[in-house]
Amino acid sequence: MSNHHTLTILPGDGIGPEIMAEVRKVITWLESNTALSFTLHEDDIGGAAYDRYGVPLSDETLEKCKASEAVIMGSVGGPQWDNVDYDKRPEAGLLKLRKEMELFANLRPALVFDALIDASTLKPEIVKGLDILIVRELTGGVYFGQPRGIEDLGNGQRRGVNTQVYETYEIERVGRVAFDLARKRGTKDKKGHVMSCEKANVMESGKLWREDMTALHAAEFSDVALDHMYADNCAMQLLRNPSQFDVIVTDNLFGDLLSDAAAMLTGSLGMLPSASLGETGKPGVYEPVHGSAPDIAGQGKANPLATVLSFAMALRYSLNEDETATMIENAVQNVLEQGIRTPDIMAVDCTEVTTDSMGNALIGAMEKTIKRAA
Ligand code: NAD
Repeated sequence: MSNHHTLTILPGDGIGPEIMAEVRKVITWLESNTALSFTLHEDDIGGAAYDRYGVPLSDETLEKCKASEAVIMGSVGGPQWDNVDYDKRPEAGLLKLRKEMELFANLRPALVFDALIDASTLKPEIVKGLDILIVRELTGGVYFGQPRGIEDLGNGQRRGVNTQVYETYEIERVGRVAFDLARKRGTKDKKGHVMSCEKANVMESGKLWREDMTALHAAEFSDVALDHMYADNCAMQLLRNPSQFDVIVTDNLFGDLLSDAAAMLTGSLGMLPSASLGETGKPGVYEPVHGSAPDIAGQGKANPLATVLSFAMALRYSLNEDETATMIENAVQNVLEQGIRTPDIMAVDCTEVTTDSMGNALIGAMEKTIKRAA
């Protein structure tokens, strides 16, 4: 039986095209060696789109994205677009994509591969086997709340205002994503666990967040474990004992900070995938956490693994191809265990390779899996 999927590929700027070439390699291999087939729409976003269309995300590109099952993005931005108007800057294309596709939940796994354990700044015994998932609310809270602005008070003083605001439907929909993921991550022997983080002690929006999460849990997800933690304590616990967490769900601001802190537990920007999801059944956007790395663009030095792992997340969360996602993740692990490294994760006694060779090594690892299974 063939499973056909439609994807939009947006390589973007800087190292984007190089790392996306390795995802394409994986897709081509999957088409030849598994029952999967793909229709791929490739288009520009960011500075590349500005140069071609005069806007960082054209309406036609957006339509293609909306009509796909998932969007795989590289990265946007670069110094050559620094003087472009704010609304036409590469980053504006990405913000438009997230907004127009109504992506309200941002997923960032923090996974420590055994072979990269020394890349973490924490002791190996603290991060060994770490596998946590941060779900950040992405479209509400203090980054969007009204009123906002800088006001001249007329007495030589100014006042900067941002408003933290959440409504129940916003809390419930991101809560559902987190509980659902925790349910899927749970096993026969261990329930999935959600840690909901806010500052209910000092913020009304936090109190509402806690009450709504508790009610949602009781109504729809009592098979999943739920606990609450103040966000500042969560920051400390992430450094003290990160393995206590499974899924963390939190608001836009706290999620911004906590997901960056959790990311660094793993030690390497080139390894970190992410997903942004909207309502169930609508397409998600999958992209590495890192930017366009203009300092190494075009030199074959970029690590493509974060983007390949983002593609694996797309297979799991948007295409329902869990087994293939696991196969790709295992291939990444296998390649790291062989000591194959791009320069950003290079270590003693390992072999340094280019972006292209890292992609070839991944294909080699997947070939072995298929041969073993045959
Ligand atoms: P960056 O993530 O691009 O780079 C930071 C450092 O990490 C650089 O030294 C870079 O060489 C290295 N690095 C990043 N990804 C790597 C990879 N895959 N392999 C090896 N090394 C890698 O962040 P920056 O330098 O602050 O930003 C550069 C541009 O990217 C800016 O225009 C910024 O706005 C943009 N940006 C885009 C996104 C996005 O597209 N989502 C995210 C962050 C930054």
